[in-house]
Amino acid sequence: MTPLERWNGGRKTPRRALACSLFFALGCGSTFPRVPPSEVARTPREATEVTLCVLYQERFTRPLWNGVRATGEAWDYTIASVLLRHPAGLVMVDPAFGRSVADDLWRAGPLFQLALGGPRGKRPLVEVMEEAGLSPEDVDYAVVTHVHWDHVGALADLPRARVLASLGELKWAQPFTRFVENGAMPHHLKRAKSRLYAFPFNGPPVDGFQQSFDVFGDGAIVAVPLPGHTPGSTGYLVRGPGGVTYFFIGDTTWTAKGVELPAHKTLPMDLDQAALTTTLARVHAMAEARAGELVVLPAHDAGALSKLPTCGEAR
Ligand SMILES: [Zn+2]
Repeated sequence: MTPLERWNGGRKTPRRALACSLFFALGCGSTFPRVPPSEVARTPREATEVTLCVLYQERFTRPLWNGVRATGEAWDYTIASVLLRHPAGLVMVDPAFGRSVADDLWRAGPLFQLALGGPRGKRPLVEVMEEAGLSPEDVDYAVVTHVHWDHVGALADLPRARVLASLGELKWAQPFTRFVENGAMPHHLKRAKSRLYAFPFNGPPVDGFQQSFDVFGDGAIVAVPLPGHTPGSTGYLVRGPGGVTYFFIGDTTWTAKGVELPAHKTLPMDLDQAALTTTLARVHAMAEARAGELVVLPAHDAGALSKLPTCGEAR
């Protein structure tokens, strides 16, 4: 793979833009545009397939109203990473908690811990990998949906992995200097700086998304832009076994229910609500158009992720 651009210094700090009002977040004011079916094209099916398994690092039950506009249901919440086995090597999607997770939480302070919980129940990715018989040294690539602390915390613990993220996301995060800034912890990226590669969306339209980036050039793992939660948020379309495509959408929504309705989160956690509305409408349209052959995987929905095997467990 040819790295297209290395991460480098010297760009301006974007204005902090937590644009979402509570009113809007509750879904009272959001109208989702309809995406015409003609815009939801099918990805050409080619030979290379990828196998997938999940590494859960935190998991507990929350009420669904905590994650999306809905009542009376439970949300099987998780922080997790997914390991892909591609002929080019092992690829980790969103390496979540690092060995430093307890220290990260302590340094982030009590308010951060109040919102996101303390270290109890949060396990470093490498610990979960070792239990599953996997070595962090064997991971060749990490692809990230966005750079929030709970999606890139373990980059430093995967010593050989080339880290791929969208150019827009890395440009956005590059000027951050505080320990926690806009949900990111800049030291997570800095510790992997020599292995960090930014990719532009310079590929053709895919499945109704106007741009793409084919990670290995074989259509097996294709990145598409999902702006809204963060400016450079990225989805990955992964061609799995049996003709099923898995779509990693990061934090575009927290739950599969958010795609199905569609509906925003109930908490104001998105930088650009208007952009996210367009993104979510497109993901929703794609899920409807490709029902039965597409599995949409929000990063924090263990119920959705349970469609994949757990690493180290036979099925
Ligand atoms: Zn996030």
